[in-house]
Amino acid sequence: MTVLDLLNDDPRKKRGEPPLRHPEKAGRPDAPILRKPSWIRVKAPGSKAWAETSGLLKDAGLTTVCQEASCPNIGECWEKKHATFMIMGEICTRACAFCNVATGLPTPLDSTEPGRVAQATRALGLSHVVVTSVDRDDLDDGGAGHFAETIAAIRSACPQTTIEVLTPDFLRKPGALERVVAAGPDVFNHNLETVPSLYVTVRPGARYFHSLRLLQRAKELNPSLFIKSGIMVGLGESRLEVMQVMDDMRSADIDFITIGQYLQPTRKHHAIERFVTPEEFESYKTLAYAKGFLYVAASPLTRSSHHAGDDFAKLRAAREQRLAER
Ligand code: SF4
Repeated sequence: MTVLDLLNDDPRKKRGEPPLRHPEKAGRPDAPILRKPSWIRVKAPGSKAWAETSGLLKDAGLTTVCQEASCPNIGECWEKKHATFMIMGEICTRACAFCNVATGLPTPLDSTEPGRVAQATRALGLSHVVVTSVDRDDLDDGGAGHFAETIAAIRSACPQTTIEVLTPDFLRKPGALERVVAAGPDVFNHNLETVPSLYVTVRPGARYFHSLRLLQRAKELNPSLFIKSGIMVGLGESRLEVMQVMDDMRSADIDFITIGQYLQPTRKHHAIERFVTPEEFESYKTLAYAKGFLYVAASPLTRSSHHAGDDFAKLRAAREQRLAER
């Protein structure tokens, strides 16, 4: 199901009221919000450098997943002038139970956006840029062409900058993945988000094996591409299920896994089942390396794009070392 299925019957629209941020969640019962443990501590936003990043992004009229997803790392990242661009608008066509990005009917694509992302990449001095997007089930190509134009604009404006794309699953969009890979990003990232048994409640519009196959196919299309994927924990998954996802990812030739704690955006979102301890994250990291990943980021505050530039440098070094050892 996509949110597009629900919009025609929205009574608020008929009454002329502004749309709800998550119309598909309005009828859900409130879930309790658990108190955060001591190890979930973040830097408060508001430093001078943070304000400069915020002003630059505002002036450029760009959207970031840092804001739209209420990322806990925004204080730390924006102080370092690291931001993750979210292209193709602020409204997503899926109805994932964990995500704080607004859902509804998206706005038309803005042809000036790829150039503005490229200019902001240069103005922020990013040596590695992460570009993600909302899901655009309403577009024939799922937004693949807009991703390709954004990659091309960044390459032209910032030839030294490495580019990581964090894409939707392009479900039922033939040719979309091929178009993005042909545009030549350095890292192709698509998050599996959770274990297969929780897809029906956490990620109902997606299909686990489709997402896994998307990642595998990206590597087949360009074997030199770095492939990255991540999951959240604390949603109700078991340790064995996480281990199975790691095995599935390695079978699909994924190089880099990220594992972070799920944090519940509102009472209408999926409840946190528990807070995974820092020791358990360390254990997941050890396991993932043992299973053959080139690089692993696993901690309570790990997010796909957290420290993405530093991690990319380590990922590249790890591949070179592994090739040298052959
Ligand atoms: S972790 Fe990613 S999404 Fe979160 S603030 Fe940092 S760059 Fe933005």
